[in-house]
Amino acid sequence: MAQSTHTSTLEDFKKSLKSHGLKATDQRLAIHGAMMELGHASADMVREYIVSHGGRITVASVYNTLTQLALLGIYKHRLSANNKMYFDVNTGKHIHLYDVYNNSYKDILDEELLMTVETALKRRRFKGFRVDGIDIQILCHPSHRKAPRSF
Ligand SMILES: [Zn+2]
Repeated sequence: MAQSTHTSTLEDFKKSLKSHGLKATDQRLAIHGAMMELGHASADMVREYIVSHGGRITVASVYNTLTQLALLGIYKHRLSANNKMYFDVNTGKHIHLYDVYNNSYKDILDEELLMTVETALKRRRFKGFRVDGIDIQILCHPSHRKAPRSF
């Protein structure tokens, strides 16, 4: 299955903005440029990226833009384990590897694994609830380091 909702290219992004009646402002383009590089990022990370590339922007404007684009479905919200709001450029179905050491996400595009889990869960009934979707996040840490210390 193709991930048609992926707005990774700049042209796709401009089209998405236009279809929502938004202008492709320098600010939005700079933020999307950073998001394409970072993949998954918080407003702080996006601001840091823009500033380190010679741009000027406040965290508040980055956050507002990211939130607006997420509400329109151009990005996806993700609250990380360290309680930060992250945004994901990939809005298609995918699995996340979450590195608990660096608090970073990596996309796992494994259609087969996703299908296996979805098929198994479709057969299950959870009393009093109806399943809306499945969000798979695999917790991990870099294999060249020791396991994180537990408290
Ligand atoms: Zn992702």
